[in-house]
Amino acid sequence: MTDAKGSQGFSRRSFLKGSTALGLSMGLFGLTACTDKNSGSKSVIGVQNGEKTFTTHTCPRNCYDTCSLIGEKVDGRIVRIVGDPKNPITAGTPCVKGQTHINVLYHPDRILHPLKRAGKKGEGKWEKITWDEAYATIVQKLKEAIDQYGSESIMPYNFSGTIGFVHQHGVPWRFFNKIGATNITRTVCNTGGKAALPYTYGDFSSIDPETFAKTKCYVTWGTNESYTNVHSVKFIQQARDNGAKLIVVNPHRHPLASQADLFIQLKPGTDAAFALGVQHIIINENLYDKDFVENYTMGFEELKKQVQNYPPSKVAQLCEVTEEEIREFVKMYTQAKPSIIRMGFGFERRTHGGGMVRAISFLPALMGVVGVEGGGFSYVNYNHYPFDNSYTKRPDLAPRKMRTINMNELGRAIAGELPTTKENPVKVLICFGGNPIPSAPNVNLIKKGLEREDLFTVVHEVFMTDTADYADIILPAAHFIEFEDVIADYLGWYVRYSEQGLEPMGESKSNVQLFNELAKRMGFTDECFNETSTDIIKKGILNKPIFKDITYENLRKNHWIKVDFGNVFSDHKFNTPSGKIEFYSENIIKAGLHPVAEYLPEEESQDGSPALFAKYPINLLTPASPQLLSSQWHNVPYIQENLGEPFVTINAKDAEDRGIKDGDYCLIQNDRGQVRLKAKVSNSAVKAGVAVSFKSYWNKFTDGNTINCLAPDAIGDLDGISTYNTNLVQITKA
Ligand code: SF4
Repeated sequence: MTDAKGSQGFSRRSFLKGSTALGLSMGLFGLTACTDKNSGSKSVIGVQNGEKTFTTHTCPRNCYDTCSLIGEKVDGRIVRIVGDPKNPITAGTPCVKGQTHINVLYHPDRILHPLKRAGKKGEGKWEKITWDEAYATIVQKLKEAIDQYGSESIMPYNFSGTIGFVHQHGVPWRFFNKIGATNITRTVCNTGGKAALPYTYGDFSSIDPETFAKTKCYVTWGTNESYTNVHSVKFIQQARDNGAKLIVVNPHRHPLASQADLFIQLKPGTDAAFALGVQHIIINENLYDKDFVENYTMGFEELKKQVQNYPPSKVAQLCEVTEEEIREFVKMYTQAKPSIIRMGFGFERRTHGGGMVRAISFLPALMGVVGVEGGGFSYVNYNHYPFDNSYTKRPDLAPRKMRTINMNELGRAIAGELPTTKENPVKVLICFGGNPIPSAPNVNLIKKGLEREDLFTVVHEVFMTDTADYADIILPAAHFIEFEDVIADYLGWYVRYSEQGLEPMGESKSNVQLFNELAKRMGFTDECFNETSTDIIKKGILNKPIFKDITYENLRKNHWIKVDFGNVFSDHKFNTPSGKIEFYSENIIKAGLHPVAEYLPEEESQDGSPALFAKYPINLLTPASPQLLSSQWHNVPYIQENLGEPFVTINAKDAEDRGIKDGDYCLIQNDRGQVRLKAKVSNSAVKAGVAVSFKSYWNKFTDGNTINCLAPDAIGDLDGISTYNTNLVQITKA
């Protein structure tokens, strides 16, 4: 374990010596200053009067990079927020979104007081109320729901407005456990892959991204680092400077694809076929690491037999690539060792996403690069923090095991379309740290549910989002600069502190303040509802064995500390039934998947549903744009200007077939909804039969609907994963 001071010669105190360090860092990294325009101060450089101090924060917006941030405070006001120059990942500058943290903090549209609905649902008419009235109304509604329908008629909805251990994973769940509310799964993002990898490796421990620079071949598969993980691009470029090859596998030609040594533009949903086709050649041509396979894997003969079903000619046809491209992949991947396979979430959010992750995961084992520095796989690293949440979430407070609803089925749940909610409807919805209208699947069904007059909806929010429009009570939420938390990266290996730099603005409150107070007003006397964030960090987070000698005091002092997990899997011990890497898994059969891996046509595809395909012949993919993180940041003017209006990218052939020209408006539709967007016509960004549109623009800043109204709420193959990208649509000229 190395701390920030030990590894980088940095301590918070040394940084706090003055603006010289900040000035140096800005010069070194060419930062764009994030100045507080609302303060009237265009720049703090040259500020002569007033006390200047620095505050240390962590971006909690659910991003691989988890930037360490430094706030510059003058006369009690934070006037600039920059990246910590000493952190090896943040390296002094946040992304384009993070450049505007201060604009979000002081945004004139922040909700500063509790509000109650004064018009129809969704109409946007509000009346200012006191916190006392808000608490009293909510408590009354909760008690009525419990008395009349049982406690499971209360449902929380939350995802990643903030991903701190305390505010996301802690106090709110104590409250919901205590009242016996419905549980929601947290399955919108990456659980399919997290469930798949342990069948192969025993867990999903990912390598340190700072070792990307040491690889000889970096394969990025279904990821777009340039948009969603910008701080890893420098490590990839370092590897390339050292002579590494870069291979991109993705249906969408994104920026790294244009720089790659090899770009494989797969037909969406065929990733397992491509992976097994590659393995067909590697095995049949004896290109694999025989010693490694013999000593550390199990099921090789079954894999060898299975890949015979995936000859290059068949795979080329399935994946819409050439046999030469498959062979070129094999050549590049097998000749450069060690190699890294970086798997993203794009192909994983499909009906067979978990199975596809498993098929790809065999490659590092075949090449014998598991446990080798600069080799292996990268997915997410939560596995490194396997401690239980029993202290932070207090599941023991629940009266019994409560029902669970998959968060991807929010619309079905509140519209009463799930068997369980037909029988026992959701009567109170409490939404915090989440904005499902632009970001969850099947949005029109969610709106239908939110329009129910007999559903009481509470939204705890920083801004008047699309979801807040449907609330009965809106509660003002604190910005992350205004509360304390601890956050661990889910790609890098850092634990990071985020201090409370300011008092919450107006009457806004953090999750800890809100749910502790609500618990008391419900009459709960459990001592845990008196705990502060500091109490929880000390007693329930940093005391876990995984954090070794990290204490509250040294984390606060150092801002961030790297936890050294060593060279992942270098001991060649795998927590599988055989103790080896399993190409053949008995356990995965119980989950309904092939014991090795296979390609299966998806539910919404030409082979999986020919009748549907005849109506809707285009596979719509909805990845993230560089300017938004899910729906966050869309209300910031600088971001809006950069982002522009939403658009759909379609292939030139599809455009020509439909009489659509670049810049024309078109209708994208399926049985779930319809969206009108401007068309961007391209020969190479996507293949014919594929379209791409960035997700989660707010309805109110667009045409009144979001691309996610088209997204299916079907559940994928492993661990309840979402299926956003298994989405057939038709596109016509508007
Ligand atoms: S969104 Fe990601 S890259 Fe941008 S500031 Fe936050 S953590 Fe950093």
